[in-house]
Amino acid sequence: MGLLDKVGKFQVARQLMAADLYNYFRVIESAQENTVRYKGKEIIMLGSNNYLGLTNHPKVKEAARAAIAKYGTGCAGSRFLNGTLDIHIELEEKLAALVGKPKALVFSTGFMVNQGVLSSLVQRNESIIVDRTDHASIIDGARLSFADVRKYKHNDMENLELVLQNERERNKLIIIDGVFSMEGDIARLPEIIELAEKYDAVVMVDDAHGVGVLGDHGRGTCNHFGLTERTHLIMGTFSKSLASVGGFIAADEDTIHFIQHQARSLIFSASMPPGSVASVSAAVDVMLEESWRHEALWRNNDIMRQRLDAAGFDTGPSETPIIPAIVGEDMTAFIFCRRLIDEGVFVNPVVSPAVEPGNALIRLSLMATHTEDEINKAMDIMERVAREMEIIPGR
Ligand code: PMP
Repeated sequence: MGLLDKVGKFQVARQLMAADLYNYFRVIESAQENTVRYKGKEIIMLGSNNYLGLTNHPKVKEAARAAIAKYGTGCAGSRFLNGTLDIHIELEEKLAALVGKPKALVFSTGFMVNQGVLSSLVQRNESIIVDRTDHASIIDGARLSFADVRKYKHNDMENLELVLQNERERNKLIIIDGVFSMEGDIARLPEIIELAEKYDAVVMVDDAHGVGVLGDHGRGTCNHFGLTERTHLIMGTFSKSLASVGGFIAADEDTIHFIQHQARSLIFSASMPPGSVASVSAAVDVMLEESWRHEALWRNNDIMRQRLDAAGFDTGPSETPIIPAIVGEDMTAFIFCRRLIDEGVFVNPVVSPAVEPGNALIRLSLMATHTEDEINKAMDIMERVAREMEIIPGR
């Protein structure tokens, strides 16, 4: 058996390509906006995490330009050694204030935050308790630590309590997505915190999809529930509402000090480049100044949800501007997605193992900058194609 035999045998993606149903690595020829250029055509983007529409904002772009002019394009080293700039520190102060924690620490991606924090903070003979649908970076971070990993059923508080009872004698950390990334439902944080306090567990919220979307001015899930104080660690990413790439962890001073000196993905990887740091900093300012964006995102959510419900789509447990349209089989999702992009709507298919087999879905996500006309046009197309494919009942 040669090591590379498996690469020749990996045919799933090729079969989809041969059937012209491959929906990954699609090449976009413009900025990430409410409409994008794809294969030379302008189409409506309903598959982006650019919730507040800031990736192409003039102030955000100008901040990046100015930072590149002053600091150049990279830091050529990790935060630990030569790669910490004054603007990294300013951004950390801004983020700590944004989410309401004493300190924050910036990493080069959100994925690396979860890897570095979980693997350093939770150690041998301790436990990491995860919701089964937590993001891949949490699952990988947990795997990387020497702690034991326990899973509970998605948002199932009875199951979480059972897990906590079994871990009663141990140190443990519960980590959840604040807003779950595929189905758009919100973590049951009040109950999770109650249970955590009852069983003496630390709580960490991955707020990748909560920042910009929930809470006062988009301050996130903990703010939304008024539970910032009682949540120990808040993680966020810059790759969604904050218009760039990178991530942060926020917590009390001692916890950040520990992570800063222990997280290998921070210490042994290059720091976030100046252009990205400055654009995130400007994006936070714009988010706080232009509160209409947050309001528009939720108005758009109401418009699209009302259309989807009226058409008879199954939108699962979603409560946020991430809205799944559950279609059933993986192949149905691939065909639906392909037909939508041909008709002018960019969406993403989510199939097993990312969701349970038979629960494949089209993941729709909105931006503050979508117009009512764009949403209605996209919904007209979705409804027509879904009826033709018998995903929703005919009229
Ligand atoms: N956590 C969640 C819930 C996410 O959805 C993502 C991104 N898909 C990440 C973490 C990783 O963030 P980043 O893109 O910054 O690596």
